[in-house]
Amino acid sequence: MRLVFLGPPGVGKGTQAELVASRFHHPKISTGDILREAVRNKTALGLQAKACMDAGKLVPDAIVIGIVKEKLAEPVCANGFLLDGFPRTVPQAQELGALLESKGLRLDRVINVSVSREEVVRRLTGRRSCPKCQAVFHVDFAPPQKAGICDRCGGELAQRSDDRKETVEARLSVYEQQTAPLIEYYRQQGVLSELDGSGRIEEVNRRLMALLTAKGLA
Ligand code: AMP
Repeated sequence: MRLVFLGPPGVGKGTQAELVASRFHHPKISTGDILREAVRNKTALGLQAKACMDAGKLVPDAIVIGIVKEKLAEPVCANGFLLDGFPRTVPQAQELGALLESKGLRLDRVINVSVSREEVVRRLTGRRSCPKCQAVFHVDFAPPQKAGICDRCGGELAQRSDDRKETVEARLSVYEQQTAPLIEYYRQQGVLSELDGSGRIEEVNRRLMALLTAKGLA
């Protein structure tokens, strides 16, 4: 199973990719998670990426393409993978296509997840995550048992700096300009499936599983 989850930030694609990844034991590759870890560890990559991320802009293509190439070369990706947040530009998609083709592989499906813009803003601004174990919560839709505390490891939950309202608007316009063209790009390749991302996590997951089953992927 080789899947890409496409959609604006906050649409829930990471959550859905995670559910599919654990169900089918495939690795989920989230360029956002990898970049945030690099920022936390203050590596050269993190230092390069931080300013772009804080401003809600995209990190240069060459950097993220390098990250993904390295990940996909790992043996754990040999039988499949789920990409979350990559590709985000047409050049990234072209590089991914060329890389897979060079290995005689191709994407099985690109799942385009969508919800209303209003809902995306609510999901992003209410999102809280655990800086220790990366578990993700939402103040209204998926609250932790104890406010502000991670259910999984007891860490103190925090808001991602780019989930603040000011940055959310910038990220959504970057999405419209640079990432939304990928919908047509993949539609033309005949691999695009639309997923209604509205409603509860389990509800969206049921729709996703039905879609994967219909395509013979689950
Ligand atoms: P995410 O967690 O997917 O919302 O990503 C957080 C931030 O990481 C984005 O706003 C970008 O600054 C950066 N980023 C993640 N994935 C990519 C990508 N494929 N291309 C460029 N920048 C990315």
